[in-house]
Amino acid sequence: MIIAIDGPAASGKSTTAKNVAKELGFAYFDTGAMYRAVALYNMRKGNVGPDTYNVEGVINSLNSISIEFQYDADKDQTLTFLNGENVEDEIRDVPVSKQVTKVSQISEVRKVLVDQQQSMGSGKAIVMDGRDIGTRVFPDAELKLFVTADAEVRAERRYKQMRNNGIDVDL
Ligand code: C5P
Repeated sequence: MIIAIDGPAASGKSTTAKNVAKELGFAYFDTGAMYRAVALYNMRKGNVGPDTYNVEGVINSLNSISIEFQYDADKDQTLTFLNGENVEDEIRDVPVSKQVTKVSQISEVRKVLVDQQQSMGSGKAIVMDGRDIGTRVFPDAELKLFVTADAEVRAERRYKQMRNNGIDVDL
């Protein structure tokens, strides 16, 4: 069974998805983490940065990127691995958050990641969240949810997340 959770940024998709997966004993896949990992790889390679945007470099990098998820029982958290390296913390940092849309808007990147997401999910009981999961990745999912929240609530949620991660921002 596939449960697809879509919705805008900071609406509560991931929190909902993680809790539903835990309750049902399903695997949870965070598709945003995959775009973040592609962004981090390309930031390190110098293809993407505050003043850099090498689209061809990003497309060429796709063959060299392998993304895996592993559940860490001690932390009760799913960790993201980029070519075998645990990048879970780094992909959540502000520099990656600022650059990620540069890679996620490249159609070749989307195609490769959507293919991977479809094969990760096939034949398994999973919960997957992201803005295109119910529409593009798993349009035939058995259960599709679209999570929304007021802009104020979304801002507050992201504000608290960032403050908890030691990032000094105002609301
Ligand atoms: O959900 P999260 O904030 O981690 O997603 C990071 C970025 O990845 C989003 O801002 C968006 O640019 C991209 N993304 C996407 N499609 C998805 C999930 C994330 O384009 N299914």
